[in-house]
This record gives sequence, structure tokens and C-alpha cells, in this order.
Amino acid sequence: MLNFTVGPVMSSDTVCAIGAEQVPYFRTPEFSQVMLENEGLIKKFAKAEKDARVCFLTGSGTASMEAAVINVFTNKDKVLVVDGGSFGHRFVEILEIYGIPHTVIKPEFGKGINSKQLEAFDGKGYTGFLVNLDETSVGVLYDIEIISDFCKRNNIFLVVDSISSFLCDPFNMEQLGVQMMITGSQKALACPPGISLIILSSMAIEKVYSNKPKTMYLDLKLALKNGERGQTPFTPAVGILRQINQRLKEIESAGGVEKEIERIGGLAQYFRKQIKDKNLPFEFISNSLPNAVTAISPTNGKSAYDIFTILKDEYKIWVCPNGGEFKDKIFRVGHIGALHENDYDILIEAMLDMKRRNLL
Ligand SMILES: *Cc1c(COP(=O)(O)O)cnc(C)c1O
Repeated sequence: MLNFTVGPVMSSDTVCAIGAEQVPYFRTPEFSQVMLENEGLIKKFAKAEKDARVCFLTGSGTASMEAAVINVFTNKDKVLVVDGGSFGHRFVEILEIYGIPHTVIKPEFGKGINSKQLEAFDGKGYTGFLVNLDETSVGVLYDIEIISDFCKRNNIFLVVDSISSFLCDPFNMEQLGVQMMITGSQKALACPPGISLIILSSMAIEKVYSNKPKTMYLDLKLALKNGERGQTPFTPAVGILRQINQRLKEIESAGGVEKEIERIGGLAQYFRKQIKDKNLPFEFISNSLPNAVTAISPTNGKSAYDIFTILKDEYKIWVCPNGGEFKDKIFRVGHIGALHENDYDILIEAMLDMKRRNLL
């Protein structure tokens, strides 16, 4: 299997090997040590402030999106939310479910947001901002500097879903004034799905302790309290947390987060150059490409979904299909997980073969 989707992605052999082991009991000093190490390295890689904390939730990324929203916002807030694709729309739905007042910013398809669009909301009493830094569904990376400036000058609490941008694109949580950053195990962390996490600034921690969300499992007060000793309130996905530990240490010993960003960015560049050099009938739909993924639209009328199906069934190569209205228009190629340049050579060769067969 050669997997170029955006998650779950391929894991290193050492991470896979942990997946084959028995799962240990976890209320032990040894497991606490693993968790505290995870917290330290995650904070380091996100460049979080010294007093920041990390909550690990057993649940996919959406669990942490929902937890973040309901632990810091109430019906007294006024939240701006960027809805540029299916993940942005998920934030909107969460706000709707909990009756949190909000205004939607809808970027043009495939485009980022500019400072002008945000200036329209200056001084209007907004208290929160929600954005998926990389809107993975359409492969658009928003300009976090513009968003950060806007939130700083308006004193707005900024929550960033970095689920597919953590370890992929440069990010400095403290400098940007991001109060909560979310990510998940199955994207660039390249582990099985099942764990998501939230980094909380000291301001976010204070806000969490002063809120009373109607939830038990997603109440971050419990996670914060237990986390002080490297534990979780409920049985976590112990095996995945051990795999995350292995992966974080591998990144650290290979040169840290900068090196990993460089590696993933290099793969993205390599792939995009091949597409152009080989004259494949594709165009990139985004004018602000993230490192994690390239969203591609066929220019010759062929169905994107058919391309996905043929690559999967006939070449054993997985790219990522889109759903809904984009099913036939877009497929995506990921650059995260245990991938190398020669893997892209195999993908490009398969695409060229499809072209020879008139399937592309
Ligand atoms: C993958 C992803 C999620 C999380 O989705 P889950 O299926 O719940 O893990 C959320 N936001 C973004 C931007 C993502 O890429």
C-alpha cells in the first residue's frame, strides 16, 4: 500500500511495531513519564509559552474542536469563524449546536483571507476567532499573521485548528498570540487515529477553569487536573499515546520541528514540480498552498473520483478523494506520513501510465 491521503497516513516502522505490542496498564509512573514527555515535545514543536499545557483527548480531531469551543465560549460570546471548506463548516455547526453567537467569514473558493476582509470586523465587539489554519478539504493555508494581528488589536481569543498544519507549516503559538491550538494523531503526527490534543495558553487555562460547560468527557478542567501528574481522567488510547511518544522523539532526534517542516515542504515542492514538468492535465486549485496537501483539479474533464478509484484499484496507490459537490472536480495528494521522494516517483509514473492508457 502506498498512501498519499491526508489521514490516516503511513507510519514509520518503529511506530508500527509499537502498534503490534500488548497495551500496558496506564496508572503507572512509567506511563505518566511518557505523557509528560509528550506534553513537553508538543509544546516545544508548537513554540508554546512556558506555562502552556496540553490536554490529550481520546477521540478524533473533531472531539478536540468541540472541546475547545465549549470550554472557552458561551452564549455571551461573539465569535468569528472562517468557513472555507468542510472543516471550517464543522466549527460553524458546533457553534450552532451550542447556541454560541457567531459570524461566518466565507472566503472565495480556494482562496485565503486578506487583511481587508478582517478590517470590516474591527471594533465590532467580537470576543473569539475560530480558524482551521490549513483548510484541508480544499488545501488552503490561511495567513496566520493577518489573523493574529487582527485578534491582537481587537483583544480577541484566538483558537486555531492546526490539525493538518502542525509539523507541516511554520507556527509560533506564543508569538502569534494563539490561545488554543488543536491537532490530531493521524495527520503529520503519522500515528493511528484516536488521539487529539489541545495546547492551552495560560490565558486559556484560566478561561477553562472559570467556565462550566455541560459535558463530562470533554471538560478540560478534568484533563488539566489529571495532566499535572501525566495522567488522563479516563482510559486513554494508551497504545497511540506510546506511538506518539516514539514519533515525537524521532522528530526531535532528526533535528526537530524545523527539519520536519522542511522535509514535508520539500516533498510538496517535489511533487508539484513533477506535475508541471511532466505536463499532467492538472491544475492546483489553491492560491495559498499548505505543505501538507495539494488539491488538484483535472483540466481535461476527467472525473477526479474516477482517478482516485483507478489509482486505488489498479495501482494500489491511495490519493484522497473529495466528497459532495467536489467529488468529480477535486482529489488531493498528501505530503504527510512516512513518505519519500521515490514514493512520488511511483505516483507520477502511475499517472503517466494512466495518461498513456487515455484514462487521464
Ligand atoms: C483531519 C482534520 C480534522 C479532524 O477530523 P477528524 O476526522 O475528527 O479527525 C479537523 N480539522 C482539520 C483541518 C483536519 O484536517
